[in-house]
Amino acid sequence: MPREQITMACTECKRRNYTSTKNKRTTTGRLEKKKFCAFEKKHTLHRETK
Ligand SMILES: [Zn+2]
Repeated sequence: MPREQITMACTECKRRNYTSTKNKRTTTGRLEKKKFCAFEKKHTLHRETK
């Protein structure tokens, strides 16, 4: 299974808060997830970054 390690960054403060993995074969494009930002203490959209 070709799983790739990725980093999730907050789209509001641009900090990198999470690391995750994704299946390259089933996931195309950039992952976007609502996650809790520890720096802003609220839920924001986090996006895959390199
Ligand atoms: Zn943030």
